[in-house]
Amino acid sequence: MQTAQSLPRSLYADTSVAAPVTPLFDMDARTSVAIVGAGFAGLSAALHLAEMGVDVTVLEANEPGWGASGRNGGQVNPGLKFNPDQLLAMFGDDLGRRMIARAYGGPDFTFDLIRRLGIDCDARQTGTLRAATHAQTVDAVRETARQCASHGMPTVLLDAAGIQAATGTSHYSGALFDPRGGDLHPLNYARGLAVAALAAGVKIHSGSRVLSISRKDGGWALRTAKASLTANKLLITVNAYADGVWPGLKQSLVPVYSSIVASEPLPDDLAARILPHRSVLYESSHITVYYRLDGQNRLLMGGRGPQRRLDGDRNALSYLIRHAERLWPDMKHVRWSHAWNGQLAITPDHLPHVHEPSPDALIYLGCNGRGVALATTMGQQLANRILKGADAQLDLPVSAIKPLRFHALWPIGVHTAMLWGRLRDAVGF
Ligand SMILES: Cc1cc2nc3c(=O)[nH]c(=O)nc-3n(C[C@H](O)[C@H](O)[C@H](O)COP(=O)(O)OP(=O)(O)OC[C@H]3O[C@@H](n4cnc5c(N)ncnc54)[C@H](O)[C@@H]3O)c2cc1C
Repeated sequence: MQTAQSLPRSLYADTSVAAPVTPLFDMDARTSVAIVGAGFAGLSAALHLAEMGVDVTVLEANEPGWGASGRNGGQVNPGLKFNPDQLLAMFGDDLGRRMIARAYGGPDFTFDLIRRLGIDCDARQTGTLRAATHAQTVDAVRETARQCASHGMPTVLLDAAGIQAATGTSHYSGALFDPRGGDLHPLNYARGLAVAALAAGVKIHSGSRVLSISRKDGGWALRTAKASLTANKLLITVNAYADGVWPGLKQSLVPVYSSIVASEPLPDDLAARILPHRSVLYESSHITVYYRLDGQNRLLMGGRGPQRRLDGDRNALSYLIRHAERLWPDMKHVRWSHAWNGQLAITPDHLPHVHEPSPDALIYLGCNGRGVALATTMGQQLANRILKGADAQLDLPVSAIKPLRFHALWPIGVHTAMLWGRLRDAVGF
């Protein structure tokens, strides 16, 4: 049996507020709604349920924020992988429009929630830049900008000079600026959500991996190593860290590792040259690189790295460091203090998945690298749905769990896709 793991070393773990007290689940109990997994999705759902007066218990294998939620790039980005018109074509006018509103409204929802709860997590709504690295991706960014504008969004298309002024590098040929995006300290945000959920009456238990789930008395029985929780309703939010807790779940996604390196705080003049407006940026290319300056002027560069746990190995991320030096040669003189990684859930259709195996059970996973805002706002929807059933609309399609064929081979597939993507980025096709 897997024992609880402590947080991996990261910039966030070294600079976070104290974790709230969330004791081991060691006594049989009953609850109205049991939630498995304490990332942004589970914590947001728990909070919103408790605010509606529901008795909620969260069982977390490690500790709140231990998964992707406490280690991500901290970018609060609007949207989904697909452009608005693609979503309308794929899902029709009604669901398509709701998906667009939910996904692009995620950052406003998240920043409003942080303000309402008074969570101290360096949240800044300074905008997201989606920057094009090649002629081909400029066309794609232009098309996204056109569609966003036609849907009345406050986005701005930047030409090469505009993005150079916003980043201090001539590497990009254009960009889409969305003022709704921004950033935050993700572990402090996760811990802040946990504190707010506890204050609203949620019970959260760390070190309490759910080993099995079965039917009991018309509800559910969740068994951990120490005790059993009986619940009327069930919500599973385990994302890329899915184990065997629900049949086929782990096999329905690819748990890709994404890596981040963080520099020591940059001198003010260098920080002002590389990201004068403090917007966060992700590159529109075959291998995504994303970066931002945090509240202490540290540059956090993220992207694909080795498909294994890093354990602080900065050498394994020389690709990201070289990328920063290519963008801004002055970064050659900077020391990099932290390197870490975590797993995010990629689904075959690149969309988040909601499964509803029965009217009293919901499963949510697969943010495909865009989960800070989306998991937060979906938490509220999941709370409503699990409480009110089909009367509460979901702004994402509900689908059946579809295990991937050859799932066990995912590390080989990801490695090949990364090499292919790097080649295409280098050659520009
Ligand atoms: C390195 C990295 C960078 C990223 N950067 C960004 C970014 O900049 N912007 C963005 O929007 N998104 C980003 N993402 C994605 C984002 O972090 C995720 O989409 C989001 O945090 C998912 O939240 P979650 O609650 O669904 O899952 P998680 O935060 O992964 O939480 C799942 C939890 O379930 C628990 N669990 C698993 N199995 C069990 C069990 N059997 N019993 C009990 N508990 C269990 C795990 O311990 C874990 O804590 C990034 C992800 C990574 C890894």
